[in-house]
Amino acid sequence: MCGIVGITGHGEVAGRLLEGLARLEYRGYDSAGIAVAKNGSVERRRAAGRLEALRSVVGDAPAPGKTGIAHTRWATHGKPTETNAHPHMSGRAAIVHNGIIENFQDLKNRLEAAGRVFSSDTDSEVIAQLLGGYMDDGLGAEDAFGRMLSDLNGAFAIAAVFAGEEGLLIGARKGSPLVLGYGDGEMYLGSDAIALAPLTREVTYLEEGDWVVAYPDAATIRDTNGNTVERPRVRSRVSAAMVELGPYDHFMQKEIHEQPESTARSLAPYVDPGKLTTICDPQLMDVFERADRVVAVSCGTSYYASQVAKYWFEDLAGLSFETDVASEFRYRKPVLPQTGPALLVSQSGETADTLAALRHCKTYGVPNVAIVNVPESSIARDADFVVPTQAGPEIGVASTKAFTAQLAVLATLAISAAKARGRIDEGAERDLLSSLVGLPRLINETLTRQPKIIEAAEILMTAENALYIGRGIYCPLAYEGALKLKEISYIHAEGYPAGELKHGPIALLEEGLPVVVVAPQDRLF
Ligand code: GLU
Repeated sequence: MCGIVGITGHGEVAGRLLEGLARLEYRGYDSAGIAVAKNGSVERRRAAGRLEALRSVVGDAPAPGKTGIAHTRWATHGKPTETNAHPHMSGRAAIVHNGIIENFQDLKNRLEAAGRVFSSDTDSEVIAQLLGGYMDDGLGAEDAFGRMLSDLNGAFAIAAVFAGEEGLLIGARKGSPLVLGYGDGEMYLGSDAIALAPLTREVTYLEEGDWVVAYPDAATIRDTNGNTVERPRVRSRVSAAMVELGPYDHFMQKEIHEQPESTARSLAPYVDPGKLTTICDPQLMDVFERADRVVAVSCGTSYYASQVAKYWFEDLAGLSFETDVASEFRYRKPVLPQTGPALLVSQSGETADTLAALRHCKTYGVPNVAIVNVPESSIARDADFVVPTQAGPEIGVASTKAFTAQLAVLATLAISAAKARGRIDEGAERDLLSSLVGLPRLINETLTRQPKIIEAAEILMTAENALYIGRGIYCPLAYEGALKLKEISYIHAEGYPAGELKHGPIALLEEGLPVVVVAPQDRLF
């Protein structure tokens, strides 16, 4: 899932589209492209690989015009080549797409049978072909877009421009976020507010199923039924400065160093620092009091944060606590708790599988709580209770400060649940909270040990495999460590419960295999 930028305005767009894509580089991508509408035609420029390659293509063959779309692709269907890079074009339409069109093969068969010729291996090209086809049949761009949308199944954010329709920019979202931005006589589309930060902070977060028809001076938003709707225009919390690197080499490093602050910010709304008690919505306290068990649904790093929370909820609140990977949960028939709650944990609040899991819980009337870092996100908007983390925008692809912010918030929730169920007294609550409020200081201290950390990294650096082990809450932390090593260093790593080592993985131990043991000096040591 990668990035989209669209501009309809009064100045040349190609340079600004490229700048917008640079803002989206943090998401990772394998190819990129732009398309600009002018003088009855659309000019397209694409390149595989880094944005630099696209910049030089555009440098050699500029694409003049004031209406355009841009895309960084992270391939799901078809190799990361120039022909598969977006925008895709057919007839008068040019489109960019994030997500997956699940019924693309059926649509492609239908379109090819009708004589349309495809030039890529992507699922996304069906969007262009459908639009181009409906326009060839005589529909206007807007009607063709509405009709095309009703053909699609899957998750998407789309932006489109049209030959002969200068000034017209159409976008849609379902399952992937899309933000509409307002400029001075200009309108923008972006896959997040960060992409639009250099252009504007005045935005509307489109809702699930919305599509928008934008001209430089006005935009009309329609819902999934085609009815015109008003959506709130808000000032995004993301400023251009927040997404600057500052003195750091890369965003992950910056975000690691932000943790004392992001943890403190995340604890603040849920902790009364004077009384050392938790602060929790009274209605959520009622839910915890009545709860038969908790089910936490999440993906990736958020899943490991949920696994840590399991120990806390069981230990402190005496509540049975299940953790589930959202993509598994949504495709089985999970036995749901009667009185809940379900906790949906997601940094972005847009994780498609977690959103689907939330909807499943809602269908069965399970009280649900969103723990997200983006309060305007789809998961936050749909949930009964929202307990935001305050990590600030996380640009690094590998989650760091969002993970510790989730842990901080989940810890306060576990203490609140324990209180609601009469499992801890004031003294115990005070002790726990005085430890929690000391966290930012301790994280700071840990960060000053960078030289030691670098020494350890040097051991891991040359390894081909690594093991991470831990017991108790350190077990999910070991999983999280292994995940980080895999995704950042491309070194194969496995996380294991320490006690499981002897039931198989010990066979892998050999000279030179690093084993990271997460074992602080506590009762388990
Ligand atoms: N599924 C599309 C493709 O493979 C879009 C991928 C993306 O979101 O970047 O081209």
